Amino acid sequence: MLNVVIFGAPGSGKGTQSEKIAKEFELAHISTGDVLRKEMANETELGKTAKGYMEKGQLVPDSLIVDMLAKVLDEKKGSKGVIFDGFPRTTPQAEALKKILNERGTDVSVMLDLQVEEQELITRLLGRGKLSGRSDDNLETIQSRLKVYHTQTTPLIDYYKQEKKYIAVQGMDSIDDIFNRIKETLSTWK
Ligand code: ADP
Repeated sequence: MLNVVIFGAPGSGKGTQSEKIAKEFELAHISTGDVLRKEMANETELGKTAKGYMEKGQLVPDSLIVDMLAKVLDEKKGSKGVIFDGFPRTTPQAEALKKILNERGTDVSVMLDLQVEEQELITRLLGRGKLSGRSDDNLETIQSRLKVYHTQTTPLIDYYKQEKKYIAVQGMDSIDDIFNRIKETLSTWK
């Protein structure tokens, strides 16, 4: 199985690249942000709990996210692999992912770190907020998401470096140029 963790700050293009990777390599795409937004729209217990955290730009507690992830993963059984978009975001989540995949006889193949400058991230997210109306794409929430990213999520770079699964991807070019480089990198796993 080809299991890809796509990593990067909010606004780095994880969702956009994930969709293209999923199509090209026939992978199931799991975006924890999208799953949470669906739960919110359906007003489930999880959705109601998640809403408060998401609107403040904070992370939803690990235990809720890990249970949700395991459930969604089992719904995708039989796929050639999975692209994990927006997960893991903390070290406990990365450890849980390893355990969940190992229990299913597989593991993370590679972690792709999409690198984008901070000012560009803010510009992109504000632009998306205007278009999509995503309630967390306003300046105040963006700033807290970036802070959370730097404090809670960046330790995963060292985690995956230690696992020898880390690959940096320059994320400031056009969508297609970035995708072509990712495609080349992932072809070695095919
Ligand atoms: P972005 O990467 O632009 O922040 P996402 O859609 O991935 O967008 O995430 C939106 C919000 O959903 C996050 O700010 C967080 O509150 C919540 N969320 C998504 N994934 C996770 C996760 N793995 N752990 C905790 N919270 C998460």
